[in-house]
Order: sequence, then C-alpha cells, then structure tokens
Amino acid sequence: MHDFRALPMKRTEIRDVARDLRRSLGLEGLLWFPVLQLVEHAFPRLDKQYHFEVAEHEELGESHGLTVRDGDSVCIKIREDIYDRAFSDEGRDRGTVAHEAGHYLLHARSPALHRHFGGPLKSYEDPEWQAKAFQGELLIPKHLVGGMSVWDVAKECGVSYDAAEYQMNLYAAGK
Ligand SMILES: [Zn+2]
Repeated sequence: MHDFRALPMKRTEIRDVARDLRRSLGLEGLLWFPVLQLVEHAFPRLDKQYHFEVAEHEELGESHGLTVRDGDSVCIKIREDIYDRAFSDEGRDRGTVAHEAGHYLLHARSPALHRHFGGPLKSYEDPEWQAKAFQGELLIPKHLVGGMSVWDVAKECGVSYDAAEYQMNLYAAGK
C-alpha cells in the first residue's frame, strides 16, 4: 500500500476509531482483545460484502496478511501459518491480524485513497503508518494500561514485548 495516500488521520483519531469499535462490541473494558473473532465473525456480521480468508503460503508469499478490495467487496486474507499462530495467541501474529483490521476499517471503504506519485509522504497520510497505529491502539488500549509494566501489557493484551514497549513509550511521552 506504499503507493497510496490516505486521508490524513492523527493518532488520537485512530485511537477513537479503535475505542468506538471496542465500545460497539461491548469490549471496552477488556485488556485481551479477541482479534481473530473480530475479522472472522464480527466483521462478516456487520458487512455482507466482507469476507475473511485463510490464504495458502503460495498465494501470499512474503506477505503475512493482505486486505483487498474488489468492486464493492473487501477481503482480509491472513497467511495460514500466521493464522495458526494468531489462533495460538502469539502476540506478533495477533498484531498482524489487527493491522489488517485497521486497513479494512480505515482504508478499504475509503474513496479517498489516492495513488501517490512521488514526493515525501507525510506519516499521517501513509496507510501503513495508520494501520500500524490502529494495531497498537486496538490491542493496547490507552485507557486500560496506565501504570502497567511492559511485561504485563505484553501478557495481558496478548502482544509482543516489542509492541508493548513501543506503545507504552508513546503513552509515556504523552501521545
Ligand atoms: Zn499494511
């Protein structure tokens, strides 16, 4: 998606999208977000033109996941080995699933995703930056993790240590 520019979104706006999603699912107070259930069961219930697919290694190659739009329908594809590990609650792979959920919510329906021709892309306009921010905000909700250690966040939120550390540093910096 690096060739595309999205509508600019600040981190706080992306945080609101993640929190609204949690609220609409009745999961606002839960540290451990069931991200596979979101993409496998909740999204299809809410959006009849959405599909979820576990993709074979040959199809996705180096990509761990992909969100593709075809006309009006949107599909999140997760590579089979990544799916299996996310299913086993591996933090890094849960992060990949949350990242694709971010592309779906923030970009897949957006008519404002433009092909970007050259020139520097501001991070707030970069769909990859936005999906990465969404991943962190959804899995490590700022309103729940105040005062927790990085290790506890990794364990309780089901994310990698690196992801927990990155997000907690952001919060500590007042972001
Ligand atoms: Zn991405």
